[in-house]
Amino acid sequence: MVCEFMLIPRRDGAEIDSPLDLLPLPNGPWNGKIAYLDRDGVLNVGSENYINSPDELVILPDTAKSVAALRESGFRVCVVTNQSPIGRGLWSHDNLHEIHNKLRESLLSENTNAHLDLILYSPYAPWEGAWARKPNPGMLEAARQIISASEKNVEIKLKFDNDWDEKSDESNSIMVGDREVDMMAAFNFGVKGIRCDPEVGISDVISEILGD
Ligand SMILES: [Mg+2]
Repeated sequence: MVCEFMLIPRRDGAEIDSPLDLLPLPNGPWNGKIAYLDRDGVLNVGSENYINSPDELVILPDTAKSVAALRESGFRVCVVTNQSPIGRGLWSHDNLHEIHNKLRESLLSENTNAHLDLILYSPYAPWEGAWARKPNPGMLEAARQIISASEKNVEIKLKFDNDWDEKSDESNSIMVGDREVDMMAAFNFGVKGIRCDPEVGISDVISEILGD
């Protein structure tokens, strides 16, 4: 069960455990692998002062092509992003939702296969010690359970940390991030972490991921 005191991830546009309608992958059935993607410095240009509105969102070159390539090679794609401005009281969940709507629309307008299956975020401030906040693995744990349950069409019953006793096989999955905190979250979850240059983003490492 989920501990009452445990600060768990939030899901863009829905309750964390509500059913997720997964779109079919472009080239056939899913084989279980997930690409867990940090957002800022991976999909879009990051900022020390946060991305505060849809107008501030600048997609990095070849991001749509790279996300599409992941899906075309069989990955489900989930964004896992720390968004402490909410916990700091700077802005709202609705504001973040508008930013994520623009992210989704921008990617799809460039490439119809550049679909993000799921966006999870940690709204907590660093001092709250949230299980959801990277370097903790809470968002990755939730992403795996939400996607796997939705593929099987069964109810999503989230468990975290030691309560989650049916750990998943992540041997074909990857986590891409531009910072050490992303690599630590990958390590803590048990998935291969791949670090990209924040000036380049995911296209920096896409051939490493796809092995071509
Ligand atoms: Mg980042």
